[in-house]
Amino acid sequence: MSRPTSDAEVVVVGGGPVGLATAALLGRLGHEVILAERRHAPTGLDESRAITWMPEGLLFADHMGITGALRADALVRTAHEFRTSPDGPAILDLRLDRLRHRHPYSLNLAQHHSEVALERAVHETPGVTVLRGFTAGGIDQDESGVTVEGVAADGQPTTLRARFGVAADGAGSTKRGAARRLGIDQDFRDYGTFSAVADVELTADPDRADRSWVALDPRRPIGAFAFGPRRWRLIYRVNEGDDRADVVSPAFVEEILRQAYPHATVTRHLWASTFRLGQGQAMHYGSGRWVLVGDAAHAMGPSAGAGMMVGLLGAWRLESAICRHGIPDWGNAVREYEAAQRQASLRVQRGNAMIFRNIAMRNGALASLRSAALTAAGRVPAVADRMARKETLAGLAPAEAPAPARTD
Ligand SMILES: Cc1cc2nc3c(=O)[nH]c(=O)nc-3n(C[C@H](O)[C@H](O)[C@H](O)COP(=O)(O)OP(=O)(O)OC[C@H]3O[C@@H](n4cnc5c(N)ncnc54)[C@H](O)[C@@H]3O)c2cc1C
Repeated sequence: MSRPTSDAEVVVVGGGPVGLATAALLGRLGHEVILAERRHAPTGLDESRAITWMPEGLLFADHMGITGALRADALVRTAHEFRTSPDGPAILDLRLDRLRHRHPYSLNLAQHHSEVALERAVHETPGVTVLRGFTAGGIDQDESGVTVEGVAADGQPTTLRARFGVAADGAGSTKRGAARRLGIDQDFRDYGTFSAVADVELTADPDRADRSWVALDPRRPIGAFAFGPRRWRLIYRVNEGDDRADVVSPAFVEEILRQAYPHATVTRHLWASTFRLGQGQAMHYGSGRWVLVGDAAHAMGPSAGAGMMVGLLGAWRLESAICRHGIPDWGNAVREYEAAQRQASLRVQRGNAMIFRNIAMRNGALASLRSAALTAAGRVPAVADRMARKETLAGLAPAEAPAPARTD
């Protein structure tokens, strides 16, 4: 026998960054929202995951009123370099600080801080209830509303009911989560290789923290990003023949660090993992009274580092569409959201595909040609600026501010 909870206007399944943002935005429109999240607490401080808020994502942070909170925990990054080797000169210097943008920089911080800031925004919004420790199982709908069957934090089987549902349960949604239960499949592109992410804490910053770099060495591309005091992220390709467990071992990570910064010393290994280079698109972002947001709709893959940004801008797009149509006209709002968000996420995925192919490149002759092309591009300021705009997702935020909320 399942314990029912009170009805809400909207139930959100998944309280990662995009689910939290969606719940807060819909709550601000005056809707009663229940958010069900399996984890008892935000992503841990050391499991850094998404570390970059791009300029365009910071427009969303302004919209949410959390930019100050993010800034309090963030490092400001003003440039990203491409090199041919870790100790070589920049062949292309993408200057964020030269962008004509309200935020000509990125803020780099652990995903933990982003989720805490978003959850605070949720708690400040009347009408939004957060159920942490709630694992959703069955997802259903009929002509009057949606239901989510799950197990609450106290171990009790519980049914959540609402008029509409938002699936924000991440990249696994189409494989084993809400999207799958709604019968939504995804088109997944695989780029044929794995990459690794390793976050370390060092005795001292080994370099300028306001710059990141990627060395496009065909033998093994490596990159370094600062995201907190003495906290650095290393990214590198997993080569054929490498053992996937071995490449994230402390000894291997320290060998990569030596190639990046020969004199750096690790005080703590924070987190490391390998990822298949790939990205997906759900066949539909909507099904009846349900809509998919974030990685559930368009799984981005970590190596390109834009999934959280694109998902948050999508939550903003959904809010705008619901504003324009009113929640009773859910079907049209979701269609409008899907048309714009699919276009935006595909634009980013086309850019990611180029990054993935570059990471996968092993042919020395082709890599030399690529370096020559990047060097030439770097010498033409207009081209370098255009590349910086693309890299920082400039122009990806919804075109217009939402109309005043309609709560009918
Ligand atoms: C190493 C790494 C680096 C990255 N770097 C960046 C970056 O720099 N910039 C960037 O923009 N993006 C980056 N990303 C991608 C980013 O982390 C994701 O795109 C983002 O977290 C997606 O947010 P989401 O809310 O859609 O999904 P998720 O963050 O996956 O959240 C889904 C939530 O749903 C919950 N859930 C799942 N199933 C259930 C269930 N049955 N019941 C209840 N709850 C459930 C999960 O517990 C989770 O909290 C990175 C990712 C990784 C792994």
